[in-house]
Amino acid sequence: MSRILVTGAGGFIGSHLVKYLVAQGDWVRGVDLKYPEFSETDANDFIIGDLRNPPICRQAVDQHFDEVYQLAADMGGAGFVFTGDNDADIMHNSALINLNMIEACYRRNVRKIFYSSSACIYPEYNQMDPDNPKTSEDSAYPANPDSEYGWEKLFSEHLYISFHKNYGLDIRIARFHNIFGPEGSWNDGREKAPAAFCRKVAEAEDGGEIEMWGDGKQTRSFLYIDECLEGVRRLMDSEFMGPVNIGSEEMVTINQLAEMIMEIAGKKLTIKHVPGPLGVRGRNSDNKLIREKLGWAPNYSLKKGVEKTYPWIKGQVNQLKDNKTSFSDS
Ligand code: NAD
Repeated sequence: MSRILVTGAGGFIGSHLVKYLVAQGDWVRGVDLKYPEFSETDANDFIIGDLRNPPICRQAVDQHFDEVYQLAADMGGAGFVFTGDNDADIMHNSALINLNMIEACYRRNVRKIFYSSSACIYPEYNQMDPDNPKTSEDSAYPANPDSEYGWEKLFSEHLYISFHKNYGLDIRIARFHNIFGPEGSWNDGREKAPAAFCRKVAEAEDGGEIEMWGDGKQTRSFLYIDECLEGVRRLMDSEFMGPVNIGSEEMVTINQLAEMIMEIAGKKLTIKHVPGPLGVRGRNSDNKLIREKLGWAPNYSLKKGVEKTYPWIKGQVNQLKDNKTSFSDS
């Protein structure tokens, strides 16, 4: 049994990671500003605290931990990251969390630390062609991420690597590509495309209309949460530091994603394209390096993931509707 600390344990990936680690027999402490929203945490211990404060980070790492997973970040989907309205918070809050956490880990002699970076670090100039985006790990430089979120992630990658170089900390860095699944943000302004379209489709009457930002011809790939966790585990168990992509290579247009969700929901809807924040024109995970270093790459189909995610979001939509109805009845 390992003693493990998960920061950001109240969030989407963190709450799933806690479940995964506890199920595997580890003792886990979670830290976050909040408890997970959609189910009880499985963590053995949970600290509610703001990791922008160094004393909270020291309290979080107040004992020996075999592994620390640093997932806490001020983040969200396109509506949060690409409008520009949250840039100062994104940079300041997430950078502080990483600066404080690496120092707290160093002081308590934690040896092994996982850091969740993002596909958003890749330069915009390699992602203009929706059919041929380039995201091999070594294509990160010359750097030119299209968001402050990406710049902060790149800075923090260097921060963790510096502590490895100068102080010998054992670091693992993954660049996640659009992770999705049940129990993630779906209606709070931080939701990403799969959750947003599941919600829109679940809310629409059959034959109706849903809105989509942009022409829907931009491409992305989406990775189901279970395979993200498997990738993280395999990276932690390997000798490879990264950074390495953890993402799916099944690239689709956003129009195709929406059509797939409609098919799974059994609804025929019209897509109305409206202006909105978009991000790069094309992005896909390049899995050559992960195959080479870990002898493994994700292969779960997008359809299978959406088939598990749509019913959960539909359940949330219905529950919200029922709550509103019973409130207005009373
Ligand atoms: P999330 O927003 O659900 O989880 C992040 C958690 O960090 C939240 O619960 C939030 O409350 C917590 N947090 C934020 N500020 C904090 C603070 N000051 N102190 C303590 N906790 C704080 O996001 P997620 O999707 O679970 O992402 C987890 C990590 O993976 C993040 O670092 C994110 O940048 C990275 N990532 C995620 C994706 C994805 O598709 N979900 C893609 C690339 C990278």
